[in-house]
Amino acid sequence: MIDVVEALRRIEKAAVVSQPRRVRIENAVGLQLREDVISDTDSPPWHRSMMDGFAVISNDFALTKDNKTIVTLDVVAEIGAGETTAIILKEGQCVRVMTGAPTPSGADAVIPIERVVTGSLDGHVGECVSLHDPHFRFGQHVSKKASFFHAGQTVIKSGVELEPVHIGLAAEVGASHVTVNAPPRVSIITTGNELIPNCQIPGKGQIRNTNEPMLSAAVARCGAEPIPMGIARDHAESLRALMAQGLAADILLLSGGVSAGDYDLVPRTLEKMGVECIFHKVSLKPGKPIWFGVFQRPAAAPTLVFGLPGNPVSALVCFELFVRPALGLVSGQSIDKQSGSHHSAELVGSMKGGGDRPVYHPCRLELSDGRLFVEALKWGGSADLLGLSRANGLLVVPKNSGDYQEGDLVEVISLVSRFRHESE
Ligand code: AMP
Ligand code: MG
Repeated sequence: MIDVVEALRRIEKAAVVSQPRRVRIENAVGLQLREDVISDTDSPPWHRSMMDGFAVISNDFALTKDNKTIVTLDVVAEIGAGETTAIILKEGQCVRVMTGAPTPSGADAVIPIERVVTGSLDGHVGECVSLHDPHFRFGQHVSKKASFFHAGQTVIKSGVELEPVHIGLAAEVGASHVTVNAPPRVSIITTGNELIPNCQIPGKGQIRNTNEPMLSAAVARCGAEPIPMGIARDHAESLRALMAQGLAADILLLSGGVSAGDYDLVPRTLEKMGVECIFHKVSLKPGKPIWFGVFQRPAAAPTLVFGLPGNPVSALVCFELFVRPALGLVSGQSIDKQSGSHHSAELVGSMKGGGDRPVYHPCRLELSDGRLFVEALKWGGSADLLGLSRANGLLVVPKNSGDYQEGDLVEVISLVSRFRHESE
């Protein structure tokens, strides 16, 4: 049986980055950019007033002794945000400007409105204003044209994972659409004769379909697009019908039916449909029965197919260990970049050593004074979702390891979003 590292290596080998797609910037957050974004404008696009006040010639102020003198100027124009003027400022003149307005030719500084000492505070065209600015600096309160970047400059480099700030920047430079790695489309098929939709009351022997909404949520949390396809029953016809549709997606997730039982038809049905098995069973607990294969699609990247175990905890642990990295790979991220969720932590309490498989045990991680501590949680095994719901990480107990004592360093995987959230 292969181990987790080998399984990941095979997934990495099979994964192909999806075709880039052009999307509106409003829909691009979280996606990886596949082209440079180049500005069509200078920023700022003009010499811009950063204050409500009066655009002036610095020399009119700088030449006064120690900036102590009150300077009286003629107000010759008024410019609001969105307006321009053809006026060229001369000595002894000023222009009333609003924040964001272009400063007129000849002006190189702005005196804030609060510095008006006489005359009406409004200082309208035709009036004189007396200004006194004891802290006056040359060029103050003017943001110079193109001082941030200029037209033709690359402002976002290909490869960047787009954050809201990049969406704003793209909007500023006129990029209404960007080319990105498309979010992978992920079909989800749950299997089992015992399953009923989770909105129903279970009859004898029936259980609610936990995995479909849970895996859909996990896919969405990764920024990918879940396509829940409903329940397939444990016979070949039912499985084939849903699989035929599911194989059209970038990734197909199945849950259940991958163990060794008579009703575990998923692997053989997939193989009959042309999906090549890359591995079946991985040495880990929970999640050992996991199946992984590749389906060659005509004129598209191959579909990666995961047969996850039916037990919900096993399904979610396998999602974290294998499907999340696969989603990253298909979206253009390297495995290395994704290993950020692995840490070492100091054990609180003691812990029994591992058996013949590594165990991924639900745990609580806590940061204290820059040190990471971990405590294993009470957990009932591969069907105990409540136990897992209290965890913010998985403690990795290697196979055949000895018992652990308080303070020992152990490997942990943070279940990223929840851990970050709670340590904030
Ligand atoms: P299987 O992998 O099909 O042998 O299922 C293993 C266990 O997981 C059984 O107890 C199933 O009833 C349970 N199971 C399978 N699929 C689901 C599901 N979608 N939601 C909740 N439990 C499931
Ligand atoms: Mg089953």
